Order: sequence, then structure tokens, then C-alpha cells
Amino acid sequence: MPELPEVRTVAKVLKRNLLNKKITNIKIIYPKIIEPNSLDFNNLIGKRLTDISTKGKFLIFKFEDLYLISHLRMEGKYFIKSLNDKVEKHEHIIFEFGDLSVRYHDTRKFGRMMLTKNLNDYNSLAKLGKEPFEINKEELKNKLKSKLPIKELLLDQSIMSGLGNIYVNEVLFASKINPLKKGEDISLDNCQSIIDNSVVILNKAIEYGGTTIKSYTSSLGVIGQYQNFLMVHKREDKECKVCGSTIINIKVGGRSTYYCPKCQK
Ligand SMILES: [Zn+2]
Repeated sequence: MPELPEVRTVAKVLKRNLLNKKITNIKIIYPKIIEPNSLDFNNLIGKRLTDISTKGKFLIFKFEDLYLISHLRMEGKYFIKSLNDKVEKHEHIIFEFGDLSVRYHDTRKFGRMMLTKNLNDYNSLAKLGKEPFEINKEELKNKLKSKLPIKELLLDQSIMSGLGNIYVNEVLFASKINPLKKGEDISLDNCQSIIDNSVVILNKAIEYGGTTIKSYTSSLGVIGQYQNFLMVHKREDKECKVCGSTIINIKVGGRSTYYCPKCQK
């Protein structure tokens, strides 16, 4: 599943190829990708792409006065092809920019898009918490007042946005925090450590083009390299790179949670 570093990588590559280009045509093959309260995508025809940004795991394409919001969810990808390339299976929405054809590809069809004039019209975007780059330790501590395990709370995008399962596992290891520790027991120092490690890990993952793991491969010919730096994620039964203990894998809130029982007490 693409997380913040992968989404930023996709944004960067799309921006490099498409900035200032005008949409000449749109083909909607599978309309259910589009949210029901979206503006009609035909409004995009003739509009120029003026920016691409990200918030949490959302891609935001700015077309003059319109925003196209895209959430890749499990398997969404963008491919840039030539106008005349054959439409392949799983290509659901096609944006034509002159002789370039940008294909939204999604094998699971869980991704969603919305066209709007106001970003706050998209509920799941409006209720996103701050990213680790913006939040401070007091704000984070306030949001963690809960009996739920810290692992589960950090996956809640309304508390802090941008960390998915891979990076929460890595951040908790780097912060020496047990994933089962209750949110309310996380100290102010722990909060600072979570924020600092999130920033370091996300920046490094962005630098390396994200993590290419199992289902997710970055589209557009970019292969993430961050999997080479993972300390605990997917390292069940392997030696901890810090203390040599065995990494274990448990389920927390239904998600695979990898940690070192010695480093993360
Ligand atoms: Zn260890």
C-alpha cells in the first residue's frame, strides 16, 4: 500500500512530466473510482495543470481553479503513456495531455478521486491530522489520550497523517517504544521522539523513492529503495540489527506489527 513517501514520489514524477500541460480529453472507463459528490470531470478539459501537492496519502492536482484529489488506497498507480497506446486492463480513468496519456491503474478498484473547487469539500481530506513535519509534541500528546495501543493510534490519520503500517513499525522501533503501550502512557518525550523519528524516516524514504514491497511498486519507472533500510518491518524471526534479539510479529488492531521485544520495552 502506498504511504506518504510513495505518494510524494508519484507526485514528484508526475509534476516533472505534466506541469503546465493542458488536459485535452478525459476518458472514464470505471466511474465508481469517482466520488458521488464530485464535479463533472469534463470541467477539466482545457484546464492547465498548475501544481501537484500531497497531504498525508492524498495526491492533490491543481488545475487553475479546480482541485483533483486522488487517493491511491491499496493498489492505485499512475502510468504515463503515449496517446495511441492500447488501453490495458485495470486502467480506469485516462487523462489526455496532448500526446501524453496518463492512466489511473488500480487492480483492486479501492482508489478514489474527486474534483472540487474547495479542498474541504472532501471529508476524508478535511479531517486529516497534521503531518509529522508540522505537528508539535504537545499537540500529539493531546491526541493520544486513549487506552488504545500506540501502534493503532499512529495509524489513525486523523491523529497524525502520513504514517502507514510500514513506517509506524519503523518509527516505534527507532523511538524504542513498545507498540502495545497505551496512548495515554506515552510521555511528552516519547511524543518528541515519535515526531523526530517520523521526520527522519519519512525524509529518508522520500529520498530513496519509497519502499517497494509486495503489492506496491511505484509506477512511472521509479523503484523505491527504502526496503533496504527497514529495521523491523517484514523481519519476523530475524535478528534485531541493534541488539541481536529475535524480531517478532503480532497483530495489533488487525495489522501486522513487527518489533524487538528487547529494544522496545
Ligand atoms: Zn533489539
